[in-house]
Amino acid sequence: MGSKDQSPQQISFDTLVPEGRSRRFVRVMPEIQYDECFDYEIPEGLESPLRGQRVHIPWGKKQIIGIVIDHPDQPEVEHCRALLGILDEPPQILPEMIELAEWMAEYYCAPFAQILKGMVPEQVREEKGRHLEQYKVELVTELEDQEVVERLKGAKVQLRAWKALKEMASTGQENTWLSVLLRETRTSQSTWKGLANKGVIRLDRVQKERNPFKDQISAEEPLQLNQEQADVISSIREFWSKGDRKPILIQGVTGSGKTEIYLQLLQGVLQEGETGLVLVPEIALTPQTILRFRRRFEHLGVGIAVLHSRLSTGERHDQWLQIRNGKAQIVIGARSALFAPIEKLGLIIVDEEHEQSYKQEESPRYHARDVAILRAHLQQAAVVLGTATPSLESAYNAQTGKYHLLKLTQRVDQCQLPVIHLLDMKLKNKVMRQKNSQLIHPDLESAIHQRLEKREQVILFLNRRGFSTSLQCPNCGYISECDHCSVPMTYHRKGNYLICHLCDEKSDVPESCPECGFDQFKYQGTGTQKIENTIAELFPSARWQRMDSDAMTRKDSFETTLKAFGKGEIDILIGTQMIAKGLHFPKVTCVGIINVDNTLQMPDFRASERVFQQLVQVAGRAGRGDQRGEVYIQTRTAYHPTIQFARHHDVDGFLEQEIEFRKAMDFPPFQRAVMITFRGREEEKTQYCAQLAARKLREALEGSPIEIPEPTPAPISKLRDHFRFQIFFMTPSIKLVTPSLEKEIREVKWPDGVVAVVDVDPFSLL
Ligand code: ADP
Ligand code: ZN
Repeated sequence: MGSKDQSPQQISFDTLVPEGRSRRFVRVMPEIQYDECFDYEIPEGLESPLRGQRVHIPWGKKQIIGIVIDHPDQPEVEHCRALLGILDEPPQILPEMIELAEWMAEYYCAPFAQILKGMVPEQVREEKGRHLEQYKVELVTELEDQEVVERLKGAKVQLRAWKALKEMASTGQENTWLSVLLRETRTSQSTWKGLANKGVIRLDRVQKERNPFKDQISAEEPLQLNQEQADVISSIREFWSKGDRKPILIQGVTGSGKTEIYLQLLQGVLQEGETGLVLVPEIALTPQTILRFRRRFEHLGVGIAVLHSRLSTGERHDQWLQIRNGKAQIVIGARSALFAPIEKLGLIIVDEEHEQSYKQEESPRYHARDVAILRAHLQQAAVVLGTATPSLESAYNAQTGKYHLLKLTQRVDQCQLPVIHLLDMKLKNKVMRQKNSQLIHPDLESAIHQRLEKREQVILFLNRRGFSTSLQCPNCGYISECDHCSVPMTYHRKGNYLICHLCDEKSDVPESCPECGFDQFKYQGTGTQKIENTIAELFPSARWQRMDSDAMTRKDSFETTLKAFGKGEIDILIGTQMIAKGLHFPKVTCVGIINVDNTLQMPDFRASERVFQQLVQVAGRAGRGDQRGEVYIQTRTAYHPTIQFARHHDVDGFLEQEIEFRKAMDFPPFQRAVMITFRGREEEKTQYCAQLAARKLREALEGSPIEIPEPTPAPISKLRDHFRFQIFFMTPSIKLVTPSLEKEIREVKWPDGVVAVVDVDPFSLL
């Protein structure tokens, strides 16, 4: 497209094209509606804007801004209007990102406009946080006062404003902030703009950047690599030197020094004048993590931008601008940082590539790891994926040679992997029926006692907030269910209420069973609050802290708690998956996993994979110092192969078995999964639409190997008063079904109140 790509022959050919053909056109998406594209002609004398660049376009009688999507040879309509101009700014969206968006729209069966919109944070798109771009106001001193008064004739307010400014200047204040003037003179911006237009003052736009890093940090040199790390790096350098850009999967046990490898690879990339993008799961994006990158690179003058959800609107805006203006050579961020407009990209790192949070659970339902691989390809960058527990998809890609696989088998500190004990809760509950210890196995209880005595720390992990999972009547079996969702309400003891974890609806705890009148409810299942209670009773002198989304409501409570734990001010940390990732606390020598069984029994082909990853990750929190850690897993299914593989830290064993299982079942990664969910307030209407869609798809795919089943009620069959029906099927490739999904689902105008959602490579099957 660009003239530099054209060979001389092509250029001379171009001059032979009949006159009409040399006209140039652009296809533009207007920013005000993000829906449809319109074609414009590039007038003579105006250079051709790049894809992704923003331009001024005529819109009715107005002039608005749009994004260039394409350069069509011929416009779609015969008479198109002329482009007015190109915005003088660095691009918010790189040309490659337009291509990426097109691919995503097709693959994920999502609206192109929506993807494009999602690539730029709302704050940047709508210029929120713009208040930061402040103006300095200065008098034009070359003018005689009389001349000014002449120019301001009839404009009383402007004159008053000018006089106020002049008075300030006479006190030695040569220039001042517009915001100060507005406040002190009670004038409006237009007054000052008017003064500037008449040439009696100057308005200078000064961009103040807020630095979210307030603290001073000490620089850190690269570490001396151990043999395994050095081998991994030299293998990677060898691939790259041969121009081999195949994605690389580093499978390294927790604490094997993967991050050090990322840092040194990045350093090499920076030395080549290229940039790096580092994706980490949101919860692993802790101040600790960011600090490691800053220590390594900031003193070298490398700009580091960080993007995550805890940034304030203004901070996010600033970080984005820093990237856009080419001031950041490294971008670290969670899922959506994938779209950061960082140029000269040399390397994308996806840490914890198996993490579920890389999948966006709302439209567009993309997977950041997969899209990252494509982005790298488009920008000719390299990709490194890292994890202790590869996803089945990546493990399989490594097995078939689509990825290079490199391994780290030793922890850096020579510390051995923790000993894992399985505590059979079935057996235990039969043998002893004591009061409190029912939740905590006696072995775990005495292990905690020992740590407390030695002043070491304990982490207790449980995947469930609240106190109990449900409230059940032992007499008639009634379970208090949410009025709006098909799930039991969770009992929260603190505050004594029931809450639905799906829709947040709260209700009072009934005094007696609404069904049979029996007045003694039974609390079933266990939440973090109940564990907290038990801990308080079992270890009255211990200092504990619960860490879940109920307890961590303030912006900084997460960091404050971790800091306190790091300083040893907390003995026992009780939490949900919030605490499972990336924490380095050498004094933690004991980890208890309260219950894994409920996840294992989920109706989901990834259940085993999830439990395995979770167990290995949580276990990785134990014994990072000089003490060997111990992990206690409480379970009723100790014989389950997944738990056994985790117990022996046998990642390869697990992967091998699970790949075999998936193959036998023809599940992903051997096929691709697609989930279509219909939801609506009216059950029958919704079901009917789902049935109709299934029939249409079946007809459209006739003759293909794809079987479309009848829709079934989703495992969560009602959510926020909406009934849900699913069509779940497998296909050898997504390409095979894209046109049918497009035509039979996405382009259909479903009746009012019914929504159809297509999820390609779904993670949540509920
Ligand atoms: P991973 O990312 O694989 O879990 P990290 O990179 O976080 O492992 O390394 C664990 C710890 O070991 C960190 O504190 C890190 O500073 C340290 N470390 C990593 N590589 C080395 C090395 N070559 N020599 C000394 N310490 C190292
Ligand atoms: Zn609900």
